[in-house]
Amino acid sequence: EIPSDCPPDVEQLGRSTWTLLHTMAATYPEKASAQHQEDMQGFLKFFSKLYPCWVCADDFKTWMAHPSGRNQPKLGGRKEFGWWMCEAHNEVNRKLGKKEFDCRLWEERWRTGWKDGRCD
Ligand code: FAD
Repeated sequence: EIPSDCPPDVEQLGRSTWTLLHTMAATYPEKASAQHQEDMQGFLKFFSKLYPCWVCADDFKTWMAHPSGRNQPKLGGRKEFGWWMCEAHNEVNRKLGKKEFDCRLWEERWRTGWKDGRCD
């Protein structure tokens, strides 16, 4: 582990970025307006071009653009967007040989805190 006041490596950048991305999902409107959906679509488009780990960005962009359309961002509201983000993260987890996260728990992890109250 490199000291926290040094430039981030891919892992540290990844952890910080997932925190940002899941928190964006956690604070997304329950039902998003057309404008909000468009803004998030734009954010994800530019994010997937500019994320400063180029192989990560490339793979993420390719995953989102799967020809079947099945991985397109689901932007209607918080629940579906949070779930989609969890699936996007699991895709990377699989690629890296990490354990998959149970997406039924994403809201406790990133929005409400755990039911046992340890985040209160
Ligand atoms: P992370 O994967 O960073 O996860 C942080 C925390 O999020 C976990 O502790 C857990 O509590 C929670 N979590 C885990 N999975 C999920 C999920 N599915 N949904 C919700 N919460 C979850 N690294 C590479 O080496 N190669 C790559 O190609 C690569 N691509 C990336 C693409 C993107 C878009 C991003 C943001 C990161 C990428 N990374 C990549 C970094 C990688 O995903 C990890 O962030 C890094 O390896 C550190 O992993 P970690 O085990 O600390 O936990």
